[in-house]
Amino acid sequence: MFPRFQKELTMSKAELLAAIDADHDHHVAFLQEFLRAPSPNPPGDTREATNVVRRYLGSRGVAHDIVAPQVEMPNVVSEFTGGGDGPRLIMNGHIDVFPVGDAQGWERSPWSGDIEDGLVHGRGATDMKTGTAASIVAYSYLHARRRDLRGSLGLTAVSDEETGGKWGSRWLLENDARWLGDCMINAEPSGIETIRFAEKGTLRLTFAISTAGAHGAYVHRTESATRVAAALITRLAEVEQIDPGLPPQLRAYLEQDDVRSAIDKVVGAGAADIMAKPTLNIGTIHAGLKVNMIPDRCVLEADIRLPIGLKAERVLAVVERILQDFPQTTLAVQEAASNPASSCPHDHPMVGLLASNAESVTGVRPVATPSLGATDCKFWRYRNVPAYLYGPAPGRMAMTNESVPSSEFRAVIRTHALAAWDYLGGER
Ligand SMILES: [Zn+2]
Repeated sequence: MFPRFQKELTMSKAELLAAIDADHDHHVAFLQEFLRAPSPNPPGDTREATNVVRRYLGSRGVAHDIVAPQVEMPNVVSEFTGGGDGPRLIMNGHIDVFPVGDAQGWERSPWSGDIEDGLVHGRGATDMKTGTAASIVAYSYLHARRRDLRGSLGLTAVSDEETGGKWGSRWLLENDARWLGDCMINAEPSGIETIRFAEKGTLRLTFAISTAGAHGAYVHRTESATRVAAALITRLAEVEQIDPGLPPQLRAYLEQDDVRSAIDKVVGAGAADIMAKPTLNIGTIHAGLKVNMIPDRCVLEADIRLPIGLKAERVLAVVERILQDFPQTTLAVQEAASNPASSCPHDHPMVGLLASNAESVTGVRPVATPSLGATDCKFWRYRNVPAYLYGPAPGRMAMTNESVPSSEFRAVIRTHALAAWDYLGGER
């Protein structure tokens, strides 16, 4: 009725961006403090890092709650309702990070939080404290302007992602429907060239081979557990030949040149070739006491990644057929570490909002692709809530000397804030 008057009252996108940018030093200080609070998982004690998040939210006047089904793994949650009806969006990120062991090979402390040569350093810089901090910062600026938005926004900064989400995202979704929403965005590392709309599943298997043992020279007395293991590993590669039965539309999409080249650019040459295929990694092998003894037992663990469309049962059928030739071998499925693939539409409006805002921020329009690795997004997708991730470069994720370009922190804050702003009906 009074468009001019209303316009004057309404915060525009440009003003939101200006407000965020004006405080950038404050955001960087928050990220550094976050990185300096160790939260390796295992063991998964995130209380110190969670306190950094709480102090930041407190400094921005954002009310929040702690939900801690495990006392040493608290989750920080917050929500607000806008000035009118609209959809509910959830922002999600994790606080825990990969462990560092004895930190061998690190050129500086894994918990330094140093910024040097345009890089933010520290365990979790990539996966995913930079992304989680970006979501928290973006949320706090949207919170301050909530009357200009419609619908509602929830923030879930969780613990326990690196070991499966049992006490984090999965727990929240199983116990409180408020955190489901109509759509979810997350800033796990995707590289600024891609938005992730799907991810492979995992099937983890333990094989135990039992044979007679013997003196190392008496090979005529036993088939040897380790030599059986070597033959079994060779045969297990057959699972990589299974046709996943990808939905035809998705297959056509994944064969597009721009999609293939975006995947290879971010994850490395060859990644597009394995995106729609099952893969096998033998992650651990344990056998033997001494070099001149033939082991009587060998235990190995396989990490099989399942593309969209491939059910674990089909892979297990192939594995069981192979095992008919290995009667000395028993198989156990690691149920708690196995999850189906997950996906949601690659042409959902949120993909367009993330892509156009990312392009305006970075000059690069990201392409929607699946992920090789798993994230908490799957818990939303399993419940039919579209979940997308857009975050910094995967770079040295899970490696020594983990770091991320500091410019990408700013880009991810801006992209998530602007995409959420648009999704929640903010003035363009
Ligand atoms: Zn992660």
